Amino acid sequence: MELISKGNELNRNISIGGEELFNPNTCRIMAGPCAVESRDQIMYTAEKLAEMGIKIFRAGAFKPRTNPYAFQGAHEQGLKWLEEVKNTYGMKVITETSDATNFSAVEQVTDIIQIGAKAMYDHSLLRAAGRASKPVLLKRHFGATVDELFKMADYVLVEGNRNLMLCERGIRTFETSSRFTLDLCGAAVIKNESRAPLILDPSHSMGYSFGVPDIAKACVAFGCEGILIEVHHNPEQALCDKDQALNLDQFKDLYETMKNIGNVIGKEVK
Ligand code: PEP
Ligand code: MN
Repeated sequence: MELISKGNELNRNISIGGEELFNPNTCRIMAGPCAVESRDQIMYTAEKLAEMGIKIFRAGAFKPRTNPYAFQGAHEQGLKWLEEVKNTYGMKVITETSDATNFSAVEQVTDIIQIGAKAMYDHSLLRAAGRASKPVLLKRHFGATVDELFKMADYVLVEGNRNLMLCERGIRTFETSSRFTLDLCGAAVIKNESRAPLILDPSHSMGYSFGVPDIAKACVAFGCEGILIEVHHNPEQALCDKDQALNLDQFKDLYETMKNIGNVIGKEVK
């Protein structure tokens, strides 16, 4: 049986609240910190990003950390602050559901349901997202093949949701000098075999801020429908993924350069 993720039914154009935010002519930038840490942090960062023209704010309230003793997120309180971002700055938000215990709380607030790399194999979470009325961004697990990503995507699609984006965020290879290895060859296969909007994540793949701008520029040139980038107002103090966060000035410069690259390849970076 042909996978729905490889068929013609998927929506290439995805609207949120009547506004088309993803389509083949756009490279949509989703920027923000790894985690919701405090109200001040979230409101300040969102304000600065909104001023730059960013429409989709990213931040996790439920963080599936490898270390069980590391900061796990601001949870329900974090979702309330994300709601405040939406109401104050008119931004859309993307935030992650890490398991079934937080699915409905996340679903109520978020504009895009993010299923992270570690949850890519959580069948019941995938099915729950498939029954939701909001778009889903599914990240490839760092140990999964592209074929496995397509198959997991079908757990969402079979439940009815056709607004699904697929994200390459780096896979584990023998190389340890970067956090992961961004698999652009795999991304080319996703592009070739699926209509799902392709999202690339230079932050989690590179893992170190010195490399993130170059990788992000390559992602725009590669041709994708969206990019997830971590931005923190004070990376040294970030409670999660501090090494890879760009500060606001670095992101601002990068954003302008990405727009120029988009012009060259015929995609509007916004
Ligand atoms: C994230 O986007 O902050 C995240 C946890 O990413 P990943 O699931 O790709 O590790
Ligand atoms: Mn992160």
